[in-house]
Amino acid sequence: MSLFENTLKQIEKAAKIMSLDPEIKSVMSVPQREIEVSLPVRMDNGSLRIFTGFRVQHNNACGPYKGGFRYHQQVDKGEVKALSAWMTIKCSVVGIPLGGAKGGVIVDPKLLSEGELERLTRKYVQLVAANVGPTIDVPAPDVNTTPKMMDWFADEYAKIQGKDLNGEGFALKGVVTGKTLPNGGSKGRGEATAQGGCYVLHEYAQSIGMEPAKTRVVIQGYGNAGGIAARLLAADGYSITGTSDSQGGVVSDKALDLPALTACKTEKKSVVHFAAEGVKVVTNEELLEADCDILVLAALENQVTVDNADKIKAKMILELANGPVTPEADEILAKKGIIVIPDILANAGGVTVSYFEMLQNAANKYWEEDEVKVKLKDIMVKAWQEVKANADKFKCTLREAAFITALARIEAKIKEKKLI
Ligand code: GLU
Repeated sequence: MSLFENTLKQIEKAAKIMSLDPEIKSVMSVPQREIEVSLPVRMDNGSLRIFTGFRVQHNNACGPYKGGFRYHQQVDKGEVKALSAWMTIKCSVVGIPLGGAKGGVIVDPKLLSEGELERLTRKYVQLVAANVGPTIDVPAPDVNTTPKMMDWFADEYAKIQGKDLNGEGFALKGVVTGKTLPNGGSKGRGEATAQGGCYVLHEYAQSIGMEPAKTRVVIQGYGNAGGIAARLLAADGYSITGTSDSQGGVVSDKALDLPALTACKTEKKSVVHFAAEGVKVVTNEELLEADCDILVLAALENQVTVDNADKIKAKMILELANGPVTPEADEILAKKGIIVIPDILANAGGVTVSYFEMLQNAANKYWEEDEVKVKLKDIMVKAWQEVKANADKFKCTLREAAFITALARIEAKIKEKKLI
């Protein structure tokens, strides 16, 4: 089953609960534009390789298309379509004036040199340039894409437009977000996904009287989202008792020593080489089924499925990745009473600070980190309260409530602008 079918099921469920206008549901069930590109890239050994890339623009009723692009060997059109629709929904859940899009290239970036990655990224820009722009569609980092690549993106786009990013063409920096700070990035963008999720978790924890000091957290993924979430949650007093990366995981009966773990990851490229008293190396499957209170999913989609949902021991799941729990697994978890704070709310901090970056690029005026954090917190807390209120009103899961919150806003926009 393609990932996009999961998205359609989620839209379907929410539409039914809220009695959404069927025409709005039809509009939301298809992306507005799907772009497929072939990218000829000169490799270091002189040979030419052709890569396949995508940019799917799902919906722009609420504002310019927005969403990252990923480099991964398993990228396919169905996945990108699903991710693009989740972006539309995500931006609407947090009430920022943006639509949804996503991109991707089928490539294992670990097998490419830096020069090859730069040529690939610049080629991708050349082929999507006609369809992106600061007020049209604004890409950003996603799985395996970095701030440096976003800098290349902005630079290549400005070259195509014949403008100088550091002169009269400054506003073109807003063609892409997640850039490095010297090239127009926003303070706080690197931490934003994890930070936003932590703000929401904090609200939830307070609402049920959960005490961080007595709470064990296992985090799948120790990269940009998961690694930073580990640090932020540990600072809030939670015990991080397990984590993983693409090579496997480690669990412990007491809190992991995060600085030592991070040093190991940097040095030896994986957390599985982390050796300390009481630490056990586990498979990805074992990590997901580990005994803990909170499971943070910060890796890829389709991690909790019909095959393992029944074995999850955590009392709640925080989705920092996109689509880590399938709709079938969602039903099993709901029956078991496991609360899921859904991706479209939990990881919306990333795109929210991307929106701040767009505002700063347009004004050519940059904010301090505290200002970013205060504004991000306001937006995340308000979104949590709205989603929670809908979950209570419709007696549904937080995911269904987040979809309802988003779809209601999109419906109002489509009708207000007379788009159909
Ligand atoms: N890739 C991130 C996401 O899935 C961020 C998107 C953005 O900043 O536009 O939400």
